[in-house]
Amino acid sequence: MPTKRTSAAKSKAESSDAPEASVPVELNPKTTFYEFGGPLGAAAMVTFLPLLVLFLAVGCDKTGYPSQKVLSMTKDDFLALFSVESLRALIDPLAIGGYLAYILWLVAFTLTLKGDKYPGSRLRNGKVLKYECNGFSVLLSFFSLAIYCAKGPGIAPAIWVYEHWVGINVASILFSFAVSIWAYSNSFEPGALLALGGNTGNTIYDFMIGRELNPRIGDLDVKFFVELRPPQMGWLLTNICMAITQYHNLGRITNSMALVVIFEAWYSIDSIWNEPLVLTTMDITNDGFGFMLAFGNLCWVPMVYGLQARYLVDFPLDLTIVQVILIIALQLTGFYIFRSANSIKNSFRTNPNDPALKDITYIETKAGTRLMTNSWWGYSRHINYFGDLLMALSWCLPTGFSSPIPYLYFFYFAFLLWHRQGRDEHKCRQKYGEDWVRYCKIVPYKIIPGIY
Ligand code: NDP
Repeated sequence: MPTKRTSAAKSKAESSDAPEASVPVELNPKTTFYEFGGPLGAAAMVTFLPLLVLFLAVGCDKTGYPSQKVLSMTKDDFLALFSVESLRALIDPLAIGGYLAYILWLVAFTLTLKGDKYPGSRLRNGKVLKYECNGFSVLLSFFSLAIYCAKGPGIAPAIWVYEHWVGINVASILFSFAVSIWAYSNSFEPGALLALGGNTGNTIYDFMIGRELNPRIGDLDVKFFVELRPPQMGWLLTNICMAITQYHNLGRITNSMALVVIFEAWYSIDSIWNEPLVLTTMDITNDGFGFMLAFGNLCWVPMVYGLQARYLVDFPLDLTIVQVILIIALQLTGFYIFRSANSIKNSFRTNPNDPALKDITYIETKAGTRLMTNSWWGYSRHINYFGDLLMALSWCLPTGFSSPIPYLYFFYFAFLLWHRQGRDEHKCRQKYGEDWVRYCKIVPYKIIPGIY
């Protein structure tokens, strides 16, 4: 379960506000490269990802994944989907209210609960932003909701979530667009520090990739808030709702559902408990805040990552004891690699004097930061992705092999990490130059040791 946070990182947080000597003259240079297929790729992502979310919500039900309705669709049926009535039927005011209430709940508790303050990476303008990591306390606030349900409406709210699933998905799509439009417009405010990759001048591309690095509304750091709370807590809560719905339908919870919900809850709770670790990830240090992060965290993660649990409500499955043991072993192996690799890297960056790092070897670089060359980081350049992938597979296997759709998470995630690895490689090559080439010779594998 969750590991203890390092207090050393915290004490460093309290003394790291002084600007460094060299600050580049041009703070917001024009971006001269494209990722994700440039403007065309960006337009495709903005269009097709929400449609895919809709397809998974509307086009998968008790009749199949995909549903019989989808499998027997004629061209006229398909065109009718885009009629005004069909589109209007997707809008569910109660679901929109429920989704917004969830976001407001998170914002309210984020702004009022106390948490330890941690430093972010030093920005190009020399500043170090502080982040109040109170995510775990915000998560605990949901216990009051559980107590309210136990005393009042019982399991009805959980079943409500299952029944209003399409409307909740639509609400999250609309809200992601609203937030992305706000983020894009806000990035033109004077003084905004832009992401090095998000200032091409092409509207659709910058809108998608994210233009401003750290948009804030008062005390609320929007990117940091969106990064973990809505996605991880939404995923956790909706999975719990799906398990309760299965219990309501069957009178019991299958072992496959238990595995999926426990594994995924473990991942969500662990990431929230270790919230400070997010401060050294690419999302926070490099990427601008735009559609990619807003949609990914406000819609895609909470709506799509829990697909396995929803599938198991519609198609309950009992696993054999051997299957259960093998799946648990895969999950534990993946988690161990993922968590220990990320923790070592975080300590190495934020608290290099940590005694746990005494056996770590590294190379010095001209950029000033060191690169580890042994322990987990000697096996591959993104061994943490490998652990994450093993876990992703262990969450899909409990759904059996009747439909490929519950495996969407694994395939999507493998693609995401493969692509992300390429992006990070590009960033590191630019940052470290010759030193990165030297590092790649010492650690030749990208993700899977001995294979890739
Ligand atoms: P990493 O945590 O791997 O961070 C990459 C950065 O680490 C590099 O840019 C570099 O930054 C630094 N680094 C690279 N190699 C070394 C080294 N040898 N020694 C020291 N520092 C090094 O990548 P991500 O931010 O992409 O991922 C973080 C975690 O989040 C991963 O476990 C990933 O699986 C997970 N993740 C999960 C997602 C999900 O949807 N569930 C989505 C994306 C990621 P620098 O040198 O500049 O400090």
